[in-house]
Amino acid sequence: MARRTKIYEGKAKILYEGPEPGTIIQYFKDDATAFNAEKKDVIEGKGVLNNRLSEYFMSGLHNIGVPTHFIRRVNMREQLVRRCEIIPLEVVVRNYAAGSISKRLGIDEGTQLPRPIVEYYYKDDNLGDPIISEEHIAAFNWASSQELDEIVGLALRVNDFLSGVLFSVGIKLVDFKIEFGRYFENEYQSLLLADEISPDSCRLWDFKSGKKLDKDVFRRDLGSLTDAYTEVADRLGLLPKTSSKTKPTLVR
Ligand code: C5P
Repeated sequence: MARRTKIYEGKAKILYEGPEPGTIIQYFKDDATAFNAEKKDVIEGKGVLNNRLSEYFMSGLHNIGVPTHFIRRVNMREQLVRRCEIIPLEVVVRNYAAGSISKRLGIDEGTQLPRPIVEYYYKDDNLGDPIISEEHIAAFNWASSQELDEIVGLALRVNDFLSGVLFSVGIKLVDFKIEFGRYFENEYQSLLLADEISPDSCRLWDFKSGKKLDKDVFRRDLGSLTDAYTEVADRLGLLPKTSSKTKPTLVR
């Protein structure tokens, strides 16, 4: 068996050199971390579910014209993606108050925001990903103003798309985090939606009961994370009808 070159190992994913130049294999681990890795566990099946869910969301976004790094899923835990230069920003879009905005601004969790709010965080684990403004991004040249305009536009399109898809299966998209990369092709440079979109990086609540179906289940010890993610995949029609809810099996 040929040995692969590991490019990077993060908290939830490993990146390997892809089969062709300009490609990467993104491997989804079962590791769950929270509070900047102060809380850790291995949740069996999480990587499989996130790989499938991220494929589903990225493919849907591609179909409405949002450029993404996703090429194809290659197996249960891996997907082939385009290699890009990650912009060091975590872009968060919020529709309802929860998590850090509730703490920071004293807004009750679940309060609908007057409009979607886009926030930026500087991607640096050692600093705990601090919130930053457009001024910081421009002054430190983390992204050009043209890139930032495009990032905001794409983030809001992603929000509209995900909110609609999830609404149709009774799930409220409270907030989510996305990342972007610069993609170079000959003399052209463009932006791609990168990383992943999964319940690890979104807050998803059942519309009626408010039940949490995302990583807060792990952060706040609210029960089985696999059950929550399986429910999201199941509602979106990504699991076979007969499957046991505790054992994720994929359908194409
Ligand atoms: O913690 P906070 O409320 O700022 O998180 C907002 C959204 O961004 C949540 O959906 C959370 O899961 C996601 N997030 C993330 N990775 C981080 C920080 C936040 O996916 N490093």
